[in-house]
Amino acid sequence: MKTRAGALQSIEGSSFDVCVIGGGATGSGCALDAQLRGLKTVQLEAGDFASATSGASTKMVHGGVRYLEQAVRGFDLAQLEVVNRALAERVRMLRNAPFLTGTMEFLTPCLHWFDAVYLEIGLKLYDWIAGRAGLAPSHFVSRTETLRRMPGLNPGHLVGAVAYTDGQFDDARYNMALVKTFTEAGGEALNYARVTGFEKGADGKLRSARVEDSISRRQFVVHARAFINATGPWADTVREMAAPGIPRRMRLSKGVHIVLPLEILPGSDAMLIPKTEDGRVLFAIPWKGRLLVGTTDDEIAVADELYLTKEEVEYLLRHLNRYLASPVAREQVVSGSAGARALVSARDAKDTQKLVRDHEVELNPASGLLSILGGKWTTYRAMAEDTVHAAQKYLGGAATGCVTADHPLAGSEGYTPDYWKQLMQASGIAERTARHLAGKFGARASDVVTIAKRQPELSAPLVEGLGPLRAEVVFAAREEMAVSIEDVLARRIGLELYGWNEALQAAPVVADVLARELGWSESARREALDQYVGRVRWLMERAGLVASQN
Ligand SMILES: Cc1cc2nc3c(=O)[nH]c(=O)nc-3n(C[C@H](O)[C@H](O)[C@H](O)COP(=O)(O)OP(=O)(O)OC[C@H]3O[C@@H](n4cnc5c(N)ncnc54)[C@H](O)[C@@H]3O)c2cc1C
Repeated sequence: MKTRAGALQSIEGSSFDVCVIGGGATGSGCALDAQLRGLKTVQLEAGDFASATSGASTKMVHGGVRYLEQAVRGFDLAQLEVVNRALAERVRMLRNAPFLTGTMEFLTPCLHWFDAVYLEIGLKLYDWIAGRAGLAPSHFVSRTETLRRMPGLNPGHLVGAVAYTDGQFDDARYNMALVKTFTEAGGEALNYARVTGFEKGADGKLRSARVEDSISRRQFVVHARAFINATGPWADTVREMAAPGIPRRMRLSKGVHIVLPLEILPGSDAMLIPKTEDGRVLFAIPWKGRLLVGTTDDEIAVADELYLTKEEVEYLLRHLNRYLASPVAREQVVSGSAGARALVSARDAKDTQKLVRDHEVELNPASGLLSILGGKWTTYRAMAEDTVHAAQKYLGGAATGCVTADHPLAGSEGYTPDYWKQLMQASGIAERTARHLAGKFGARASDVVTIAKRQPELSAPLVEGLGPLRAEVVFAAREEMAVSIEDVLARRIGLELYGWNEALQAAPVVADVLARELGWSESARREALDQYVGRVRWLMERAGLVASQN
């Protein structure tokens, strides 16, 4: 990938066929699809790639068992079609980036025989809808076997569990792999580049976007024949920029996760908690040596500055603890995340939990702005396919074939599940580092190892005893447009989700390496470090993990 300065130079004042606004899953999927169809494409992201909803998901590649239940109970064919389409996309998402994805069994503990029968019927329906796209058939697991596989469970009234298989993925890295694949196909991408307005031609159609580079604070314009608004929770703001006074379409729902030590529910299986107080489901999922627990669903007005609150921590622990032999205390929480679902208000639904998780491509006829609204991670590719079809139609041409269904993402070339072993043998790195690198970078992990070999001081771990290497910071700055400590720890390496304390431990080293790579002055290095440490401590305070300084 180009450096940020190089990308800025190519984009500023240039003309493109398509300008995609947004660097989450949806925008990155659209940019890749458009570029692969031969349209000269630019992608602009206001923050960092995957810094919003796309880096705060439950990391499941799924059709959605909860949506299936809603579909069946409400005789809702539209909802059923969403599940069906997502199940078809699930296989493609797994296949196109095998190093970032995997499958996992989800055990749903049953406390009554009635629940076991109800769940087994429901999950057989999930298998049936998946058809040939199914991963493995669902099945009943005896009480003894359930307790063997999940030793942390409360044996109390347990009668057994119903197991089904779904996909899991590294959301922030998948997003990065999409951006890389896009730029390697000839597209231009820029983070920290916010679209602040548009310029229109005499016919009222959008001609250029005004952009603010939030690193240099400079303003510039980008010209394009078509503009795709893929800003998720901010879609209405961009729609309003293009067509002032346009009715709002989005409803936002906040969802949070907590992260716990994996020892609480050891093993490789995930748990589905079938019913919360507010009639939802919760997941407790093994994630890179930790346990990811979530999520919630609460309507919010704006998506800016979301964080995990103390009350949300308590809500999640209360439900999890009902299933555990030894209750978990708040102090055991090691980190968390918060994001906003962008749901399209297609009908008069009062409750955001009941809004269909489907997407819609909207063309504003007056300005020509195309907006891709709603959807979910699992369907990002299908959403992009629909959007780029609409863009081609808008540009006056016929829709050409979409090729993303079978297009491996950067890092997949030559990757096999044993790749980490080859990496270990070839470079002599520790097993935990080899597994970590292979799982983050796929076949590109050897580039990180090469950096570590050239500068031996970078071959040390970022935090003693953990997989990530110092060389990854250099790789993130040189190859993946990382410009801050948060970019590196939260999204390129994922250490921030692994543990806020571990991230605080790594931050000074990351600051030193970034300062050298990006040419920061001593005061800039200190300011970046203070800012990062302050942010993480603030997150910990909000979650009730440390006392407030105020
Ligand atoms: C808690 C939670 C759990 C979820 N779990 C799952 C799951 O397990 N599986 C699944 O399939 N889906 C899941 N989803 C849904 C999925 O995460 C989202 O559908 C998806 O990430 C949305 O991607 P997006 O690109 O549309 O939005 P975002 O990721 O929010 O990206 C929009 C981007 O637009 C940028 N932007 C905004 N304004 C501008 C501007 N003016 N100029 C330039 N850029 C701008 C923002 O900075 C942002 O990065 C979950 C959602 C939540 C909230």
